[in-house]
Amino acid sequence: PYTGPTAAEILQKRREYLSPSMFYFYGKPLNVVDGKMQYLFDENGRRYLDAFGGIATVCCGHCHPDVVETIVKQINRLQHSTILYLNAAIADFAEALASKLPGDLKVVFFTNSGTEANELAMMMARLHTGCHDIISLRNAYHGNAAGTMGATAQSNWKFNVVQSGVHHAVNPDPYRGVFGSDGEKYAKDVEDLIAFGTSGHVAGFVSEAIQGVGGIIELAPGYLPAVYSSIKKAGGLCIADEVQSGFARTGSHFWGFEAHGVVPDIVTMAKGIGNGIPLGAVVTTPEIAEVLTRRSYFNTFGGNPVCTAAGLAVLNVIEKEKLQENAHAVGSYLKERLTALKNKHEIIGDVRGRGLMLGVELVTDRQLKTPAKVETLHVMEQMREMGVLIGKGGFYGNAFRITPPLCFTKEDADFLVDVMDYAMSKM
Ligand code: PMP
Repeated sequence: PYTGPTAAEILQKRREYLSPSMFYFYGKPLNVVDGKMQYLFDENGRRYLDAFGGIATVCCGHCHPDVVETIVKQINRLQHSTILYLNAAIADFAEALASKLPGDLKVVFFTNSGTEANELAMMMARLHTGCHDIISLRNAYHGNAAGTMGATAQSNWKFNVVQSGVHHAVNPDPYRGVFGSDGEKYAKDVEDLIAFGTSGHVAGFVSEAIQGVGGIIELAPGYLPAVYSSIKKAGGLCIADEVQSGFARTGSHFWGFEAHGVVPDIVTMAKGIGNGIPLGAVVTTPEIAEVLTRRSYFNTFGGNPVCTAAGLAVLNVIEKEKLQENAHAVGSYLKERLTALKNKHEIIGDVRGRGLMLGVELVTDRQLKTPAKVETLHVMEQMREMGVLIGKGGFYGNAFRITPPLCFTKEDADFLVDVMDYAMSKM
């Protein structure tokens, strides 16, 4: 049994010694002490079904034995910086990762986070093209360093940074967007941004395949192919931010962009790729990767042996346990059940997403789409009381985010929906 400090004691220490900017879910925050596959356990040994996976950071399941064993073996052997010497772990993982990407995307640069990966991707696009302008989507989240905070387009996550050369395009959001599901109409906005907001030449375009922090927003069909073509014409590079939508999560494909039939010039990834271990990566073509040889460039811990060994173990688990197929099967089933729930509860305005990256948006008025912010929090608290943890997000904080570990089962999906149904019925 757990003998460490209680939730109240930890909270007290956090208040005194940690940044006041740190936030947490739930009125009475949860003290998680153990994890096993799709479950988390609190200080009293109470089990929770984890349908958020630490914001999609856990891909194969909490403390997956294969991943843990690999990490322990590697850390007992060697853990150091990747620069200056050779080591097999980084090379093996890079090779395996490259094999999962289409076309000429086969040169990998490792980082410690998604922010670092996107910062690097944007810098490479700028260096390669000699242009400065980058187009990102409104409602996107790409990170919290200077450049990525600029590309991020939600006021909740932005400080007063200098947003040099970033343009935020109309979001092709099928639920709230002005053009509904007409991807090509939204794409016209990117053409206009290029024509009227830049010299006509741009460094690039960055977007998620499904917006995660933004509340699980799928991009309207036809949008990405049209935009990629405009960006190419303007001499820019297309960056796919796969931090949440990559690594088998969307089920139908290994990468989120694949569902749109496009091939990016640069792909960034993090979160799930290390199953909870800090690891990020940028994958690009040999030609684009060349730009980094103009100067010396390194990242002290990016691609260190322990993290890259973990990354390779994650890829192996995904293959061995057919987690992509599982995400597809269980995700489709879960989406069907959530859609049925929408027919029962007026408060559900929209059900969306793909695989095990699903969103449920709550509104108090279906016509006006008024965000049901308080109700979202209430249902989330009630679900926690019944042992199910889900995430929330979206600009208005009224969309549930369901991004569980990919080992989630059909029974877990049933339990989640039954619990959500019960919480909504009692409201
Ligand atoms: N891109 C996306 C799509 C994300 O969701 C996030 C994190 N929420 C990031 C980038 C930044 O990743 P990190 O927090 O690891 O810097």
